[in-house]
Amino acid sequence: MLLTVADVRYVHRRHFDSWVIFERSRSGANLSLIKVAINGFGTIGKRVADAIDAQTDMEIVGVTKTGPSFGCELAVNRGFPLFATSDDSEMIESFEASTFSCEGGLSKLLSIADVVVDCAPGKLGQDNLSKYKDAGVKHIFQGGEKHSLTGLSYSSSANHTENLHAEGTRVVSCNTTGLSRTLVPLLERCGPLAVECTMIRRSADPGDSKRGPINAIKPVLKVPSHHGPDLKTVTSGIEINTLAVAVPTTIMHVHSIIVDLPANHGLDTESIAEMWKQTPRVIVMEGESNRITSTAEVMEMARDIGRKWGDLHEIFVWEDSISLIADRLYFFQAIHQESDVVPENVDCIRALMGVEDDWRKSVSMTDSAINQYYSL
Ligand code: NAD
Repeated sequence: MLLTVADVRYVHRRHFDSWVIFERSRSGANLSLIKVAINGFGTIGKRVADAIDAQTDMEIVGVTKTGPSFGCELAVNRGFPLFATSDDSEMIESFEASTFSCEGGLSKLLSIADVVVDCAPGKLGQDNLSKYKDAGVKHIFQGGEKHSLTGLSYSSSANHTENLHAEGTRVVSCNTTGLSRTLVPLLERCGPLAVECTMIRRSADPGDSKRGPINAIKPVLKVPSHHGPDLKTVTSGIEINTLAVAVPTTIMHVHSIIVDLPANHGLDTESIAEMWKQTPRVIVMEGESNRITSTAEVMEMARDIGRKWGDLHEIFVWEDSISLIADRLYFFQAIHQESDVVPENVDCIRALMGVEDDWRKSVSMTDSAINQYYSL
């Protein structure tokens, strides 16, 4: 008998579910799962939903769409209940003309959730925040919103503790997450840092036909750019200025970083590389010897790893680029903009719900569950 793709998916799913039940009973964990809603099932929302579905201590109670577009199929295949992004009856009814069934509006979804992860396009936050507050549900925004929206931001390695039991926060942007992953361990190792970073940014995500440039290199003329100060929303002790340039690529951002370390830092080039090799969610690899000399090869390697969508949750540091000259450190790192914030959202849920105080334990739990989910 020939198995179809659907059969294979079903068998894999059953195997995974059995593993989840086994893990829950083995850990003696509270069997009541954290109920998570995803508002906005686009680039970030669909990835965060999968990462949450992979965990043993939380579950997706619903995801929202503005109408019956192609992303709905993905939600249905995963068994995520579909809701509309608002309570507007026309929007809810628009699903009736399709093959997708809509369980109701946003208020209905919020009424059954402990926490909502807002993955709507940036700048809709103010409007959505009042809905979350009215529903009395904890909330997590993304980096497209300003820090001032919630007065609190999140990065797993930088300020998990500060976010424990908070009502609402914001996971910092893909760029700030990247800076936090490599600079926070350096700060903890040797004290205050002065950083200058030039960000070479992808101009659009692969699924986005509206943005550019497609034939230009476009500097952000506000200098320094807004990116650096965002790091200060999750950590102190790092003075940072950033410049940003958009280039015609869809796959990654590259950061060209110069760090002035404090005197008597006690580090050398090798010990810095070694430190990052021991840091969660950072990959350090020789570019020349491994023939990974550009973002194209980094993303090809990510596809080989085998996460869905070819995602790379880790920050990629070219080992050959790490160079400490006196107290000045140089290096290049690359960020998969669509996915590095995904596991951070999972850790952030645990912080808000107050179920894990130790960020390292949460990171390890999140990442091993994701690996198991994708059979890696
Ligand atoms: P996206 O456009 O891919 O997805 C947004 C989704 O929200 C779409 O499905 C859209 O239909 C839906 N939506 C529209 N109006 C809505 C509303 N009123 N309420 C809820 N949902 C609504 O956007 P994205 O790239 O996933 O970005 C989401 C957030 O994540 C933004 O704050 C963005 O800045 C941030 N972010 C994006 C990236 C990236 O590279 N794409 C990286 C890090 C952070």
